[in-house]
Amino acid sequence: MTTSRPSLRFLGATRTVTGSRFLVETGDSRVLVDCGLFQGLRELRRRNWAEFPIPPESIDAVVLSHAHIDHSGYLPALVRQGFRGPVYCSPDTAALSKILLTDSAHLQEEEARYANKKGYSKHSPALPLYTDADAQDAIELLAPQPFDTTFPLAPGIEGHLRWAGHILGSASIALDVDGRNGGRRAFFSGDVGRPEHPILEPPSPPPDADVMLIESTYGDRRHATDDDDLEELAQVISTTAKRGGMVLIPAFAVDRTEVVLDALHRLEESGRIPELPIYVDSPMALDVLGLYRRALGNGHAGVRAEVAARDPFDTSRVTECRSVQDSMSLASLSYPSIIISASGMATGGRVLHHLRRLLPDPLNAVILSGFQVDGTRGRRLADGERTVKMFGSYVPVRAEVHQLESFSVHADLPELCDWLALAPGEPDLCYLIHGSERASNAMRDAVDERFGWTAVVPRPMERVLL
Ligand SMILES: [Zn+2]
Repeated sequence: MTTSRPSLRFLGATRTVTGSRFLVETGDSRVLVDCGLFQGLRELRRRNWAEFPIPPESIDAVVLSHAHIDHSGYLPALVRQGFRGPVYCSPDTAALSKILLTDSAHLQEEEARYANKKGYSKHSPALPLYTDADAQDAIELLAPQPFDTTFPLAPGIEGHLRWAGHILGSASIALDVDGRNGGRRAFFSGDVGRPEHPILEPPSPPPDADVMLIESTYGDRRHATDDDDLEELAQVISTTAKRGGMVLIPAFAVDRTEVVLDALHRLEESGRIPELPIYVDSPMALDVLGLYRRALGNGHAGVRAEVAARDPFDTSRVTECRSVQDSMSLASLSYPSIIISASGMATGGRVLHHLRRLLPDPLNAVILSGFQVDGTRGRRLADGERTVKMFGSYVPVRAEVHQLESFSVHADLPELCDWLALAPGEPDLCYLIHGSERASNAMRDAVDERFGWTAVVPRPMERVLL
């Protein structure tokens, strides 16, 4: 076995955005890069329940690019099925994962409880994909590693993390495989941040690598410019406030809440929006905000120096809503206000209660703040559907709905290509992953055209030699 060539298997985020999981195997070792949940359409979510294609206990180590659930959220399930190895990641990813995996377990448990109560599961009783105990077991395995420092992952496999500028702690991952047989380097972009992220430093350039796996979430798109989106945000808020309505911003708990607060801060400072009360209604988002605040205060290398100098999250009237009572009290607000609440794609969380209350009234506005996965309520709202279903019944959509893409923390096609152009050498193969089939295909064509690299959109579960 020891002479067999190292291989790579695409276990997820292949012709789809979520479920990031890639297996690197040598004769001696198995390393899983990312361990994400499939999210969105039911058919995708069902894949989380499929038997893992190899025995989880046979995996030596996991390495996580970042804490987003589509990259980390399967970890407790892997542990539940017997994985016991270390989970390497950056220190901030470890800190964020503690918050996100705990929350994810609660959502899984809640979903199972709800299914049992409503009797809609085919299984009786419905079980959660994993429990809080599984999440805590997974958290115990987190093994933080600094950026730009080589560390051993498994016999014959070394890795290092590179700053990816997508969210706090996010990394691209380079794996050096099987050095004694000449060695191959595989590079996993993870999610790549935008060069103009308002808070975080831009991503480090890609290294020289034999094989690259590059995300293509926005592989077929170009973001509106930040200025256009800021202008739209200012207009929506101003006109909604003028007519006495409420502004609801569903926002991902990690990074998006920070980016939105920063934008509101800048608009308020420059007098482009009135000073309105702002409520951040998500305990998880507030925990994450605490980590961002600490990073700003500590002179974190990933935070833009000019941002650390001001407090971008402090607008004149921000209220933190932690308790359920705090959240419920927002229902009786009678003056124009801004509510920021999770989840960002309206798949669950407190934002649903606000949507149910605010969507039927044309005075109000809902501002979606980033990528909306197919099959989510956020996607349906962005697509202009006139009703959305929540809590078992239909709610009419009469509020204004806007989607602002520059709040995305993913690079778009031109930004991804400009970033790839910084690679010092040409890979033998460039695989486009983490995108819809259309987005990945578009980016494959762009990479082929601009760089002349051999670019491939792999098939789910496909295995290739490294
Ligand atoms: Zn991400």
